[in-house]
Amino acid sequence: MSEEKSLNFIEEIIEADLESGKYKTILTRFPPEPNGYLHIGHAKSICLNFGLGLKYGGKTNLRFDDTNPVKEETEYVDSIKEDVQWLGFNWEKELYASDYFEQLYLFAVDLIKKGLAYVDDSSAEEIASLKGTPTVPGMDSANRSRTIDENLQLFAQMKAGKYADGEKVLRAKIDMASPNMHMRDPLLYRIKHAHHHRTGDAWCIYPMYDFAHGQSDSIENITHSICTLEFIPHRELYDWMIDKLEIFPSQQYEFARLNMTYTVMSKRKLLQLVTEGHVQSWDDPRMPTISGMRRRGFTAESIRTFCDKIGVARRENMIDFSLLEFCLREDLNKSALRVMGVLDPLKLIITNYPDGQTEELVSENGPDEAYGTRIVPFSKELWVEREDFMEEAAKKWFRLAPGAAVRLKSAYIIKCDGFTKDANGIVNEIHCSYLPETKSGHDTSGMSVKGTIHWVSVTHAVPAEVRLYERLFKVENPAAEDGDFKEYINEDSLKIISNAWVEHSLLSGTTATRYQFLRKGYFCLDKESAASKLVFNRTVTLKDAWSKEVKKH
Ligand code: ATP
Ligand code: MG
Repeated sequence: MSEEKSLNFIEEIIEADLESGKYKTILTRFPPEPNGYLHIGHAKSICLNFGLGLKYGGKTNLRFDDTNPVKEETEYVDSIKEDVQWLGFNWEKELYASDYFEQLYLFAVDLIKKGLAYVDDSSAEEIASLKGTPTVPGMDSANRSRTIDENLQLFAQMKAGKYADGEKVLRAKIDMASPNMHMRDPLLYRIKHAHHHRTGDAWCIYPMYDFAHGQSDSIENITHSICTLEFIPHRELYDWMIDKLEIFPSQQYEFARLNMTYTVMSKRKLLQLVTEGHVQSWDDPRMPTISGMRRRGFTAESIRTFCDKIGVARRENMIDFSLLEFCLREDLNKSALRVMGVLDPLKLIITNYPDGQTEELVSENGPDEAYGTRIVPFSKELWVEREDFMEEAAKKWFRLAPGAAVRLKSAYIIKCDGFTKDANGIVNEIHCSYLPETKSGHDTSGMSVKGTIHWVSVTHAVPAEVRLYERLFKVENPAAEDGDFKEYINEDSLKIISNAWVEHSLLSGTTATRYQFLRKGYFCLDKESAASKLVFNRTVTLKDAWSKEVKKH
């Protein structure tokens, strides 16, 4: 816990509750609906709920809000558990709102017995037409005055499967004139003859959000139930239920959801991207899903840092995607192994280097000694980056050009003597000579050059496919634009380089290894990578002193 950082409004509430003795310990929950994969917005909620539990010595439950049988699947449950754990959090209990179906049913019976709920035969349209508007009171349904006994009997028959979908609903009997539309006799149960991913066909009536969420909080003794701002109008109903059912007084607090530029963040929209083939899968590295970001090479730490930095507010705002990338670079800069990979290869021949000779050069793995070193083989023919060569040096060009000298990283200073072109006039070989006395770490020449470039040895390098990603959308807020958000998809968000060469040390990596390809960005192995064909994702570009230097020319 950092002392300097001021408390957010939820922390202030919790500290006051602990100080006053209202609670001895706190219990929060993260309550995803298992109808899709988690995204970066959920990460904010996870970090907040689990973070509070950790900070105040309390606990946090993982509760699947699985009350809608139609959209929920076990695949989603599994992915959500994996994502929460990967983010670094452990839940106290794994719970399912569907485990409370029997208890919720009894709560509903209790409300009926108290004269606070009734069975309504009205159709959805009729209910809507009697609901009124925020300024015009609603009107009572003809079924509102049913007797308690009649309601108990009808509700039991609803449960027993006597009616078809939509034929009847159970409603709370509150106030059809309430200024809060959510208090105008909200629906509590609907009939749905559908198979549920956990309860199977045991139920054909399912509780609505407002009759499941708060009650689940109470059943679990959740002290602080944290949700996003759109639930503010539900809070009155949340409290009404606790009051009338006389159950544990959980309290709801709302914070602003995370919105980010150049992406969309609703599971419904993300699902469309997957099912309509705009991306390959939920874990496509361009997706703002936690699984997509993990596959792309994001670290859990960078996501936690990001969530901490953006803080918890009560006002909606839009966070720049580059802030997340900033957190990512900061973390990768500490953790990534420095290696060499050439994305756009051009052959370089060291004409005065002995044929068939290989030297095992030592190269640093990281920014300081703690990272250790590795062996990089060096030989007469190298791959270098095509963009590191100019046929005619521009002003202040510190890389390869006829007559110019550069240092090969961890190797020698070389001088470019000339080049050849193929039949199409494309440069296909650069010819250089090396200065043996300039070997890195043993340089006795006293020479200095302004440019250092990366390389790999032709005979030792390993071929690789490299996938470069750009933003998935062309506009900052695709969901807010006119028309369908999919019209704003960036068609060039994936570029595949199939002829890259990387140093052979990369053969021993795993998808968990984070690399910095010198001067090229941060990369990781993709899950589709195999020893026979390495596949890398570019996680993020470097902050980029290099591109600034290029711009100067
Ligand atoms: P979506 O709109 O993406 O489908 P949801 O709110 O329906 O999201 P849930 O599974 O119900 O998804 O969300 C679980 C928890 O995560 C809820 O408490 C919800 O408020 C929170 N959450 C969802 N999206 C965001 C977001 N963008 N920022 C912060 N919290 C979020
Ligand atoms: Mg939801």
